[in-house]
Amino acid sequence: MIKPDRVTTTTCPYCGVGCTLQLHVKDDFIYKVTSPFDSPVNKGNLCVKGRFGYDFIYHPKRILKPMVRRYLLDGGQETVDRSEFPQFTVNGQRSTDWVETDWDTALDITADKLTEIYRRDGSDAMAVYCCAKATNEDNYLLQKMYRALFRTNNVDHCTRLCHAGSVVALQQAIGSSAMSNTASQVLLNDVFMVVGSNTTENHPIIALQMKEAVMKHGAQMIVVDPRRIELVDFAALWLPLKPGTNVPLFSAMAQVIVRENLVNWEFVKSRTEGIEDFIASLEKFTPEYAESVSGVPADDIRRAARLYANAKNAAIYWGMGISQLSHGTASALALIHLAFLTGHIGRDGTGLNPLRGQNNVQGASDMGAMPFHYPGYMRVDEEENATKWEKAWNVEPGGLSRKLGLTTTEILSHAHPGGVRALYIMGENPMMSEPNLNETRRHIEQLEFLVSQDIFINESGAYADVFLPAVPFAEKDGTFSNTDRRVQRVRAAHPPRGLSRPDWQIICDLALRLESRLNPFDPAQDKRPTAKWDYAHPEEILREMADVNPDYAGITYERIEKTGIIYPVPDLSHPGTPTLFTEDFPRGRGKFIPLDYVPVMEEPDDEFPFIFTTGRVLEHWHGGTMTRHSALDEAYPEARLEIHPADAEIHGIRDGQAVRVSSRRGEVVLRATLTEKTSVGVVFTSFHFHEAAANLLTNDALDPQAKIPEFKACAVQVFPARDADLANPEVMLARGRY
Ligand code: SF4
Repeated sequence: MIKPDRVTTTTCPYCGVGCTLQLHVKDDFIYKVTSPFDSPVNKGNLCVKGRFGYDFIYHPKRILKPMVRRYLLDGGQETVDRSEFPQFTVNGQRSTDWVETDWDTALDITADKLTEIYRRDGSDAMAVYCCAKATNEDNYLLQKMYRALFRTNNVDHCTRLCHAGSVVALQQAIGSSAMSNTASQVLLNDVFMVVGSNTTENHPIIALQMKEAVMKHGAQMIVVDPRRIELVDFAALWLPLKPGTNVPLFSAMAQVIVRENLVNWEFVKSRTEGIEDFIASLEKFTPEYAESVSGVPADDIRRAARLYANAKNAAIYWGMGISQLSHGTASALALIHLAFLTGHIGRDGTGLNPLRGQNNVQGASDMGAMPFHYPGYMRVDEEENATKWEKAWNVEPGGLSRKLGLTTTEILSHAHPGGVRALYIMGENPMMSEPNLNETRRHIEQLEFLVSQDIFINESGAYADVFLPAVPFAEKDGTFSNTDRRVQRVRAAHPPRGLSRPDWQIICDLALRLESRLNPFDPAQDKRPTAKWDYAHPEEILREMADVNPDYAGITYERIEKTGIIYPVPDLSHPGTPTLFTEDFPRGRGKFIPLDYVPVMEEPDDEFPFIFTTGRVLEHWHGGTMTRHSALDEAYPEARLEIHPADAEIHGIRDGQAVRVSSRRGEVVLRATLTEKTSVGVVFTSFHFHEAAANLLTNDALDPQAKIPEFKACAVQVFPARDADLANPEVMLARGRY
C-alpha cells in the first residue's frame, strides 16, 4: 500500500456540481483520488471523471514550454505573413513550425504584437475568451487586463454557449441569473421537474440526489426530454417533447394551472407583475395545440401541470435542452412563469435551477467574463458601475469603455480586416465548441494574431501564433464557484510541470509588459499610472474583486477553508445564502413576459429528414482537451450516432455500422448505435470527438437576445458509409501536431 507524501483537498475540475476531491500525492505525482464523507456537496461520492479523470496532467502531449511560430522569432512584423512559411497545412491554413522558447521571449512577442494591433486599430480590434475551467482569480484578471488596458468589453466565455438563454430570461424576469436554490435541496421537494438535462451524465452527483429524493423520500419526478434518459426509469411522468417545443409545452401547462384555478394568487399578487397580459397570451396554448407541435399527449401535459402546481414544495432543474435554442430565452421564460404562477420559489425545496455545466462557469460569469457586465453583473453601460471599476483599477475617469462588447459567437464572426484582429484564448476551444465549425474555421483563419493559453494544443491552439503553457487545476491555487453559488478552494497538489505556470501569473506578467508599453512613465507625476498587477497570491486578487462586488464581500480564503460558502455573502459575519428571493426579487416584482411559439430555425424536410441533437456522455467533457488525454478515452473511445431502430431499418443501417451524417453546413462519419433511447425522427451524438465533430453540422442561428446558438436542433440526413470513411484527416492533423 502506497503511503502518500500528502493529501491535498481541492475541487473537481469537470462539472458544475463542484465535488470535493482529495488528491493523494507521492513523489509529486497524484496516484489516487478520494472524497471525504462529510464533503458538503457530494458526501464522499464521485463520478468516473472526478475519481479517475486526472491522468491528463501527466500526458506526454501536455505542453510544458512556451512556444511561438518560427515567423515571429525570425523577424516579427515583416515576416508575420504566414504565407511566407508554407511548411505544412492545417485545415487549409498555411503555417510554420512551432519553436520552443523562454517565457520572456514569448511574453515580449505577445505584448509587442497586441500593442501594435491596439495602437493601429483600436479597442474594437481586441478580444478575449476567458475560461469557465479556470479559477475566479484567473478570470477576474484576464477581463481586467482587457478592460483596463485595451479599453474593450469584447470579453466573453463559454457561458454564451450553454446557459446564455437562461441568464437573459432570469435577468429579465427576476433580475438575477444564478440558481435560486441549491441542488441538494431536491431532497426537500415533493415534486420536481428535470427539463432538457441528462443529469445522470452531465451532473452525475446531482442525479444521485434526484434518485434519492424519489426512492427514499417519495418525491415525484417529471422528466421533460426528447430522449429516454436514465432518469426516466425513476420518473412519475415523462414528457418526450420534440426538440425546440418548450414554449408551447410549458405555456400549455400554465394554461391548465390558470383554467383549473391552481394559481397561488397570494404569491402572484404580492410578488409579481403582468399577470393579466400573461393570462391573455395563454389563450392559444391549449394542451391539444401543444400536443400537435410537441408530440406530448395533452393529458400528460395536464397531469404534469397538476402535479407541479399541487405540490407543497416543487422545483425545476434544467439544462441546455432549454437554453441552446434560437429561442432559448423564451424557453427559460416559459419555465419561470410556472414558478411565478404557483409560488414555487423563494422557499427551501422550491426554485428555478439552471444546472451550470462547467466547473466554474458560474464563477467566470460572476467575475465579469462577459461583454455586458463587470464583476458582480454590473452593466458596463451604466456610469455608476464604470466609475466604481475605474477607481478600483486606477483608470482615469471616463477611461473604461461604456460600449457593450461582442459575444463569443460574434467575436469570431467579426474576425476580418476592420474588425477583430487579435484574439486571446485562455483554455477554451472554439474550433470544437462553436456551431457550424466550417464557418468558424474560415473566421479563425482571418485573425492577424492568436494567443492560446492552455495545457494542450487543441483544435483552436493549432491556429495560434503564440502558445503560453498554463497549469491544470492540481497545480494552482484559487477558487471555483459551483452551480449552487458555493465558492470553494482550489489547491495545488504539486508544483507545475516543466516551465508551465498558473494562469494568473502569466496574465500578471503580460499585463506588466503591456502597461510599460501602453502607459509609459510620466515624469510630471513621477510615476506610471497603472492598475495593480503584482499580486503575491490569488487571495489578494479575490479580495480586490470582493471589495467592489457585494455578493463576494464577505468571502475570504480563511472562511472557505473547510466547506466553501454560498454567495451572496454581504459581510464577513454573514453565513451565506442557500435560498434566494425569500422576500423579493432583485428587480422588485417578478415579471410575467407573454410569449409566442417560434419553431426551431431548421425543421426536417425531404432532403434532411432527421432532427439532430447533441449532448455529453458521462466519460467525456466538452471538446475533450482533458478527457481525451486521459484513460477515460479508452472507456468511450469513439463518437456514436444514436438512432431509433425503426429509422435504422428504413435507412438500411446496422448497429455499429459507419454512417455519414450531413447537414446544410457539413458532414461527419461515425458509427451508429441503435437504441430506443432516442425518439423516431431524432438522432443524437455527443460533441467530444474531433474525428466526428458534431459542431460541423450544427446551426449557427442565434437567439436574438442571448446570442446563444441553436445547438439542440438542426436538420440532417443519415446514410450508410464505409469504415474507411471514419477518420477526418484534416482535423486529425490539427490535433496531431502535438
Ligand atoms: Fe466532478 Fe461533476 Fe463528477 Fe462531481 S459530478 S466528480 S464535480 S465531474
